[in-house]
Order: sequence, then C-alpha cells, then structure tokens
Amino acid sequence: AETVLITQQSHEELRKILDANKTAAPSQQRLVVVSVSPQSRASLAARFQLTPTDTAKKLTAFFKKIGVHYVFDTAFSRNFSLLESQREFVQRFRGQASSTQTLPVLTSACPGWICYAEKTHGSFLVPHLSTARSPQQVMGSLVKDFFAQQQHLTPDRIYHVTVMPCYDKKLEASRPDFFSQEHQTRDVDCVVTTGEVFKLLEEEGVSLSELEPAPLDSLCNGASAQEPTSHRGGGSGGYLEHVFRHAARELFGIHVDEVTYRPLRNKDFQEVTLEKEGRILLHFAAAYGFRNIQNLVQKLKRGRCPYHYVEVMACPAGCLNGGGQLKGPSTTSKELLQHVQMLYDTVTVQVPEDAPGVQELYEHWLQGEGSERAGRLLHTSYRAVEMASSGLSIRW
Ligand code: SF4
Repeated sequence: AETVLITQQSHEELRKILDANKTAAPSQQRLVVVSVSPQSRASLAARFQLTPTDTAKKLTAFFKKIGVHYVFDTAFSRNFSLLESQREFVQRFRGQASSTQTLPVLTSACPGWICYAEKTHGSFLVPHLSTARSPQQVMGSLVKDFFAQQQHLTPDRIYHVTVMPCYDKKLEASRPDFFSQEHQTRDVDCVVTTGEVFKLLEEEGVSLSELEPAPLDSLCNGASAQEPTSHRGGGSGGYLEHVFRHAARELFGIHVDEVTYRPLRNKDFQEVTLEKEGRILLHFAAAYGFRNIQNLVQKLKRGRCPYHYVEVMACPAGCLNGGGQLKGPSTTSKELLQHVQMLYDTVTVQVPEDAPGVQELYEHWLQGEGSERAGRLLHTSYRAVEMASSGLSIRW
C-alpha cells in the first residue's frame, strides 16, 4: 500500500492534473497549489547558481507557466510548527500536559525518524513525540482549510503539492490523520522531491536561470509573502533553537542571545544547556542520522537520557542533505552540502511570533492560541505499529 501511495505522488501525477485541467469544464477543474520548502529552493539555487530568493521567484514563474495557480513558501507554515512546539514543550516541562506525554520531548517533523520510532520502539517512544504538525502538514491545514474557505471551494477542489527535500515526506502526507473522510481528500495530495522538480524542468526544456522572476503568493492579506523567508537554527527547521530560547525566557526569565552547541560524539550529535549558578536548567540535544538516533534510544531505554528536548532527524547533517535533494555533477557531496548550507543561511530570517499574518490567523482562523481548533489543525498523534501484523519493513 505504501508503494502505491508513493507512485501516486510524483511529478508525473502533477502533470496529469495540470493536463486534465486544460480540457476539463470550469466546474471540474481543480485549483493547483504548490508549496515549496526552503531546503529545496537552496538545493536548486546551488544547481542554477542563483540566490535562494531568485530561485523562489523563478520557480514561481515556472510553476505558473505550466498551469499552477498559487505558489507558497513553507517557511510560512513553519512559523506555526515552531510556535506550537514551543508551547507544547513549556506545558510538558511544567507538567501541564496529559499524563501520557512525557519528557524528553522528541521532535516529530522528520517522517524517516517517525517511521522508525513507531515501528521499532513504538509504545516506549510514542509518549515522547511532539504532537506539533510538521511544516508540510501545517501547510496542508492552511491550504485545505483556511485557503479553501477564502477561495469558496471545498477542499477536494484544490490539488495541493509540496516540494520537499526527501522521499519520506510522501509517506507523511499519506498518513490517515491527514486524510479528510468528509471530503475524500488529503491535506497534501502530492509530494515531489527537489530532484523531481529538476526532472520536470528538464522535461519542459526550461532553465530556471532564464526565467523572469515572479512574486510568491501570500496566504492571507496580513502575510505579504512576496519574498521568501526562513528561520534561524539550521537547515532542519530550527526546532531546538526556537524551543530553547522560548523555554529559557518563559520558564526562567532568561534571554538567550546566542545558542552555543557542544559536539558530543560527532558533529551530528550536539547538545545545548542553559545554566545558572552551576545548575543545569535546560538540557537540549540534536541527534541526526541513524547511528546517533540508536544511541539516543539506548540512552532513553536505560533511563540515562539527561535531555529535556531532542531535535531528531534521520539524515546525517539534516534536511539540507535529504535523499530527495540534488546531487552535484562535479563537486563532492561534502562541498555541495556546504554550499547549499551557505545559500540556505542567506535568506532573511523571521521570528515566528512576529511573522506577518501569523497572529491574525491564530485569531481569526484558529479561534485563539491553544483552542480546540488549533489543536485539531496544528497537531497530530502517533501510535505504536506492531511489526509482525503490519508486514512492513523499515527503510533507512
Ligand atoms: Fe526527510 Fe531527512 Fe529531513 Fe528527515 S532529516 S525530514 S528524512 S530530509
């Protein structure tokens, strides 16, 4: 079943929808929306020797040229993922969360890691997982709920595509929690990798460099998304940094200027502490790559995990190095990754609390922070999967 879903989510599928729109009666056409991840645009920027901002604008021009109606930036939905992660952590730290949720909080935006967590140590790890939806899936809620209402369309009349740095995002989009039984549609209908976008460009005979840039679309009036944005804290979304700063301020009244990482076993396993008078107040870590994840899980199982929060990512070096990113034709993978990281860091960063449009959406769309509606549209749940009964194997 997983294979079928993944083959349904490809650039060929997107092309079929665009072709069908050309001949369908207006009442049968679907509004096509593409949401582009900051990691994908950095990878394409490196390949086409452009800035990420130019890449985002030229990519918008390309998608519109082939029949896409709206192009958004998933950095916008990431504001909500980060804010919800911050709020959730503070609640769990104060012991205000449900009794089944526990510390350390382990991030859940990486479906490669979630697949492993649910299938190998499910009942043990699930209570630790953050319930905040990933930027891809928050974008799913924004497009199929908020934007659909704005456009006076039912969610099934919108075809929502995301451009992502990895194949596992296709699995995430296929989770039952992100499917509307009422409207028989997914929040994200199709995930295409950065590499698949590159193929699409090749098949259309288009070089990004030669296109005239077009402004990005904004989801609501308050959010003037003409320029792409990003967040501080690295290429995997900046969860550790945002939650750390917020928790330091909210729980201990301490303002953190610079977050200083200490490498542990290797550069993919680092930790950060907040200390006062020799006492550790907050102990956070980032664990990237399978080996470091296994190490973390062993620590947890032995009751020797000192952390309050861990940003967990399946790919070594994180999302900029995802399996769906472009490989370099001439440079080594290490050089290419450094270049992509450098480009990724050149985009203007936003503080989620202050990002234009975010507070407005909390107020009008979600009926307030911490509301039942915000819980339903911005959070999800995880469950242990019995390997013997599922018949699934884990891919790493
Ligand atoms: Fe995908 Fe890798 Fe990022 Fe996980 S770390 S979300 S597998 S690119």
